[in-house]
Amino acid sequence: MTVRTVTVLGATGSVGRSTLDLIERTPDAYNVLALTAHRDVAGLAAAAIRTGAELAVIADPDQAGALAAALAGTGITSAAGPDAVRDAAALGADWTMAAIVGCAGLVPVMAAIGAGRTVALANKEALVSAGDLMIRATGRSGATLLPVDSEHNAIFQCLAGSRIERVRRILLTASGGPFRTASLDRMRTVTPTEAVRHPNWSMGAKISIDSATMMNKGLELIEAHHLFPVGSDRIEIVVHPQSIIHSMVEYVDGSTLAQLGMPDMRTPIAHALAWPDRMDGPSAPLDFATLGRLDFESPDPERFPALRLARDAVTAGGGRPAILNAANEVAVSAFLASRIGFLDIAAIVGKVLARYDPPVPVAIDDVLAIDGEARRVAAIVMAEMA
Ligand code: NDP
Repeated sequence: MTVRTVTVLGATGSVGRSTLDLIERTPDAYNVLALTAHRDVAGLAAAAIRTGAELAVIADPDQAGALAAALAGTGITSAAGPDAVRDAAALGADWTMAAIVGCAGLVPVMAAIGAGRTVALANKEALVSAGDLMIRATGRSGATLLPVDSEHNAIFQCLAGSRIERVRRILLTASGGPFRTASLDRMRTVTPTEAVRHPNWSMGAKISIDSATMMNKGLELIEAHHLFPVGSDRIEIVVHPQSIIHSMVEYVDGSTLAQLGMPDMRTPIAHALAWPDRMDGPSAPLDFATLGRLDFESPDPERFPALRLARDAVTAGGGRPAILNAANEVAVSAFLASRIGFLDIAAIVGKVLARYDPPVPVAIDDVLAIDGEARRVAAIVMAEMA
């Protein structure tokens, strides 16, 4: 058996833990090079010890001592700070899972891509913010970028063996989130606890809120635009409340291919981990007789304005998607801290986009500058709305 080296960026999060769950089922197949986290020292140290990782990195420099103490006597090297996360990503593991949440993952993802190996991408905000630059860097380094987001992984599987020029449409499915049928009045009073409770998926807090506002689908539209160059006008969003079909590809001959499975992230992660092979996965099989039916509907642009904001951003290109993403990250944090209402999230993103229009970024530093400025503008907008 060939032993592969693996690194998991964001190892303590929802996707990171699911990735380790798969790796730990066949420990002899993998040599864990590095695991990273932000502040969760206990979770990181436990995962590093369990998997026999060579290196554990905590992004928050204030946690350096705590991590070193937690790993004392284990032989596992510890490091701290954002630069150490980037350096861990640059070590060039055969396979790297990029599962940091937010644009904070951009520099590490670029470092992993620069190393020229296989990068499994869950961290959609990084691709949304730096799309063209990231895709170009992938081409330059020869890295393989594998989509882990369930929709993009589904599209990737549906495209296998076919020419992208023969695609008529990509159908990005959306669950519609917990407020799919809620009235605008109801949405006005939604609490963070209600919004974080996704009907089908168990995920981190930020993506759960994004699913509730449907900004998640907007970010995924931009992600799909970069990963599958068919033109964003050929990528359509269809609401499918059961989350069984994870996306579809329609070809010019009228064939539509779909990828189906239980809503369990371990399926797309297993696909990316074994690609181009397949591995045994722990997800429950589909029971079609019990499922009975699959429903579809169009998304409501009135109650989910994030969809239009994202479509406008991808159409305009340049720095617009990075602004959309940064403003959304700020607004989602504020909502989770109960500082703004649920409907304010998209309103803030819209206002920041209306106020700030930087030149097209030509380097990652430009993207980081746009991200920083958009966050500053978002803070001003929020203060004005208070
Ligand atoms: P979580 O919030 O559960 O985990 C995020 C991970 O990133 C944690 O390990 C966290 O560390 C780390 N992290 C957070 N901030 C920083 C930072 N500033 N620097 C370094 N590391 C940081 O998120 P998810 O696992 O839900 O999502 C991860 C990514 O995958 C997101 O981009 C999301 O959109 C995407 N995704 C997630 C899916 C899911 O099912 N959860 C499905 C599809 C895509 P710590 O624990 O210490 O805070």
